[in-house]
Amino acid sequence: MRIADVEEDIDHELVSKEQIDAIIHTVAAQVSHDYAGKNPLVIAVLKGAVNTLVAFTQALSIPVQIDFMSLSSYGSGTVSSGEVVVRQDLSADVRGRHILIVEDIIDSGRTLAWLVEELKRRGAASVEVFALLSKPSRREVDVDVKYSGYEIPDEFVVGFGLDYDERYRNLDSIAVLKPSVYQGE
Ligand code: 5GP
Ligand code: MG
Ligand code: MG
Repeated sequence: MRIADVEEDIDHELVSKEQIDAIIHTVAAQVSHDYAGKNPLVIAVLKGAVNTLVAFTQALSIPVQIDFMSLSSYGSGTVSSGEVVVRQDLSADVRGRHILIVEDIIDSGRTLAWLVEELKRRGAASVEVFALLSKPSRREVDVDVKYSGYEIPDEFVVGFGLDYDERYRNLDSIAVLKPSVYQGE
């Protein structure tokens, strides 16, 4: 789905399809170099990171394994508390593995900080992060993101996996919604 298909809901595009593609290919080249011969396990946090995981792993020039995890963090409204519950766990044993977590967006950083520690507790050999988007002004917890995509302002975005109320995940670029979309809810 393109912006033109939901034009009435979109305020403006923030990251184009071409920009997404460019940053994913740049990071994939770096990761292919850094992880050559390491058979890394690439983990996507459901559901938002799925689009990034698919585009990213296809752009790699090394073989990898992929796995998924579904997490929910409890908090009031849009603020995550850092209290994380595993809704769906990995199928792989991470002991001794080199892990690369793929994230759609880092906001407070609480969910990610918890996941990095959890994977280390489970005995991963190394844990690094690729986040397509980041909102630095919202960061509450310091997380070491080795591979980062675009820094964006503090605006709620949708598209390329990111949703508002489970909608717009299949938009092929990243955009800011019109306030009218949130009204009347
Ligand atoms: P954190 O623990 O870093 O505060 O939460 C990160 C999660 O919050 C993301 O994985 C995503 O699910 C959600 N999130 C944060 N900012 C946005 C945003 O601008 N748009 C959407 N759709 N989700 C967001
Ligand atoms: Mg996420
Ligand atoms: Mg969401």
